[in-house]
Amino acid sequence: MTLEELHAQAAAAAENAYAPYSRFFVGAAVLLRDGRVVTGVNVENASYPLGMCAERCALARAVAEGVRPGEVEALAVTASPCGGCRQWLLEFGIDRVAFMHEGELLERAPIELLPDSFSL
Ligand SMILES: [Zn+2]
Repeated sequence: MTLEELHAQAAAAAENAYAPYSRFFVGAAVLLRDGRVVTGVNVENASYPLGMCAERCALARAVAEGVRPGEVEALAVTASPCGGCRQWLLEFGIDRVAFMHEGELLERAPIELLPDSFSL
C-alpha cells in the first residue's frame, strides 16, 4: 500500500471526527505489518484538554487489538502531528509517517519529527 493510499483512508476517516468545538476534522490511518489498516479520528470534549488526536486514537485502537510497538509499518494523518503525537509515533517504532503540510503530502521518519527525543 502506498502512503497516498493510506492517506486517502485517513481522509475518509476524518469524516467521522467528533470536532464540534474546533470544526477541525482530522483522520489518521495506521498500516500494520500484517497488512491490516486501523483508522482514528480526533475526538474533542467540552473540557478541551481531554480531547484526543486522530493519531493516538488510531494507535490506541490498534493496541486494543493486540498491536505492540514494532508492528506498525506506517501512519498517515490529514494534518501535521502535534508534539505529543510525535512522541507516540516514536514509541511505536513506525517506519514512515505521512501527513499533509501546506498542501503537500510529506513523508518523514518519526525521529525526524522529534529529534533528541525523550526515552526511558
Ligand atoms: Zn496530536
